[in-house]
Amino acid sequence: MIRYSIAAADLEASIRKLKADWIEKAAEESKQNKKERTYTKGPVDWSDIKQAFIDAQNGKCIYCERRIGTDSDKKVEWDVEHFRPKGRVTEWEPGTGPASQSGYYLLALDWRNYMASCKRCNSAHKGDRFPIAKPPRQFNSTDPARLDRELPYLPFALGKAADDPEDLITFIGWKPVPKSPSLRKRAELVIRFFELDASEDLIEARCNAIVAIYTYLRNRDHGDKEAKADARDMLAIVVADRFEHANCARSFIRLYESDPNEAKLQKDACKAYLRSKSQRR
Ligand SMILES: [Zn+2]
Repeated sequence: MIRYSIAAADLEASIRKLKADWIEKAAEESKQNKKERTYTKGPVDWSDIKQAFIDAQNGKCIYCERRIGTDSDKKVEWDVEHFRPKGRVTEWEPGTGPASQSGYYLLALDWRNYMASCKRCNSAHKGDRFPIAKPPRQFNSTDPARLDRELPYLPFALGKAADDPEDLITFIGWKPVPKSPSLRKRAELVIRFFELDASEDLIEARCNAIVAIYTYLRNRDHGDKEAKADARDMLAIVVADRFEHANCARSFIRLYESDPNEAKLQKDACKAYLRSKSQRR
């Protein structure tokens, strides 16, 4: 997970480019929801503005950092993710906020509550759950400061004011771990919530990245002139936000710079994992 620092005005402009009057229509429909104190599906469709979020996130799932892509034919693999559930909220683990039938109905059509996520993260993991540290849930507000009083466990990672998930989660080799002891509980919860340390596809993709990055780092330091130049170019690509599993890649490069022997051990563990997977197939 990483933060995508797009300015709110830029995101709003790209929403308007997709559908000029979406925001006004949504505000109109929200009034009705407010009156009825529940979200009822009307003509406004958030899929119409999905591409703005996909583009803002460089074609990557906000939660698991899988790169699905920005092409319009990939749209079906994406969900508009309501950060705070638009309807019913189910309790996740005890002590992470109560269930509710009505949910955050005021935010159903509020684009500031949207991100783009893959179906794995949205359907299989997030669903209508929204763990918070500090109940009660602020169902009757759209004010960000008031909503923040809930102390959500999951980071909202889109926008300049968003949480930075890299303050929360770092990686040792392929494995996501809490970055700092003070945020350990929250980080562990996020990792567990999305099974970021258990999905074999995610582990395999991160291992592939680490084995490649290790080669670039070795070539950068020990290669001939051409290998050094290639390695520097490739390293610039893998630390960019657009790169799949950028948090893992950046963490691994930091590990290599501070402890190359440990980085080598982690790279070898990734290689062993990839080898065992290829033999299973
Ligand atoms: Zn995902």
